[in-house]
Amino acid sequence: MRNYRAAMVEPISLPSRERREAVLEEAGYNAFNVASEDVYVDLLTDSGTGTMSRDQWAALMRGDESYAGSRSFGRLEEAVADVMGFPNVVPCHQGRGAENVLYGCLVGEGDVVLNNAHFDTTRAHVANLGGDPVDCPVEGARDPNAPGDFKGNFSLDRARETVAEAGAENVPVVVLTITNNSAAGQPVSVANTREVADFARGIDATFVIDACRFAENAEFVRRREAEFTGDTVAEIAREQLSYADALVMSGKKEGLANVGGFAAVAEEPEGEAADRLFERAKQRGILYEGFPTYGGMAGRDMEAMAVGLREAVEPPYPEARLDQVAAFGDLLADAGLPVYRPVGGHAVYLDAGELFPNVAPDEFPGQTLVRELYREGGVRCVELGSFAFPGADRPELVRLALPRRTYAREHLEHVADAGAAVLDRREAVRGLEIVSEPPVPELRHFSAELRPVE
Ligand SMILES: *Cc1c(COP(=O)(O)O)cnc(C)c1O
Repeated sequence: MRNYRAAMVEPISLPSRERREAVLEEAGYNAFNVASEDVYVDLLTDSGTGTMSRDQWAALMRGDESYAGSRSFGRLEEAVADVMGFPNVVPCHQGRGAENVLYGCLVGEGDVVLNNAHFDTTRAHVANLGGDPVDCPVEGARDPNAPGDFKGNFSLDRARETVAEAGAENVPVVVLTITNNSAAGQPVSVANTREVADFARGIDATFVIDACRFAENAEFVRRREAEFTGDTVAEIAREQLSYADALVMSGKKEGLANVGGFAAVAEEPEGEAADRLFERAKQRGILYEGFPTYGGMAGRDMEAMAVGLREAVEPPYPEARLDQVAAFGDLLADAGLPVYRPVGGHAVYLDAGELFPNVAPDEFPGQTLVRELYREGGVRCVELGSFAFPGADRPELVRLALPRRTYAREHLEHVADAGAAVLDRREAVRGLEIVSEPPVPELRHFSAELRPVE
């Protein structure tokens, strides 16, 4: 049941078919080049695109914009301690800022970092520090048809193999990303979290949880992990996070805010400042983000995130969130589209390879589906297949991410109708070829230009 109503509206409209054709051509058939006013339903990302609550808007007005000792930072600190159980907070402008601050203290040249699956910015930061990011997904994580309650889990077998090769002394950090963004938003169990924590302790590595979608993950645990059926999302979230030594967080996800983030460090033994992770992270934060009581955020943004963190673990948010994403998956599947199963926490993924067997991989079935959904319904989504990850052996997935508390069922039905129309004429659909791409192939999906294959 939808337990909120709109208190502020933002007009959107569906451009004419003619206009949509022109937009695609002007954009070089790349959805990142399309202006938002030309989009009807925008499912490009769930990052910073959600709707804030009345209480968050009210909190903005309390923003204390003092450089040092901001009251708003105090409220953020309290929220992180209450909701996540971490007393030491380094505020940052967004999640990748927190990654730079924290991993910059922990990772050096030649080090190996293990992760159930590195999110793009995590991978880029580890590589930028001279480290080697190694993914440890469980079997089936990238298979759209494999069953499993916790396909986001971290594979201990894969991690042990890597450590045996690299040497434990070269693995300073183990990361667990919940939910697993790079594996279709699949959840991670608390049992797996405990095992990963033990494993990290065993090799004397720092155990970091990337907590961007910690509340969605906790709701999955409540539904699927027998030990926790009687518990609340707030209790589960604290339990799951309690195993980590440190967190990175993007406020744009389950801070339910439009911007912001932080790194957080667990209670540490007394000792020299130079030996304490929190102290080192704070110093690095000053260099890259800002003074430790604002870290690149306005005071009002810290207020909004502090309220958002509390809302993220309280009913009705987590339950309504997963229900909406699951219902969207059902709408698309009922329309005949090949949906990644089970549906994850923040998005529905479609398998464009299965949808367009007649479009060769080098004609980018995923980008082709992105183009067709825009052409058909003014819907924007993102390819996460061979175009975004050149050379990687992965399914041709397209992600339809749902902004939090934003779209109604009518919008999602519209997307499903557009998908059904694409399906109807799939035999006639041809792929795309690259016209120009930037020098860094890993970043080409943001700015490359394409054209339809003749
Ligand atoms: C979004 C995200 C980040 C980075 O956060 P930004 O706020 O976009 O910089 C890091 N890790 C995961 C898993 C994410 O989804």
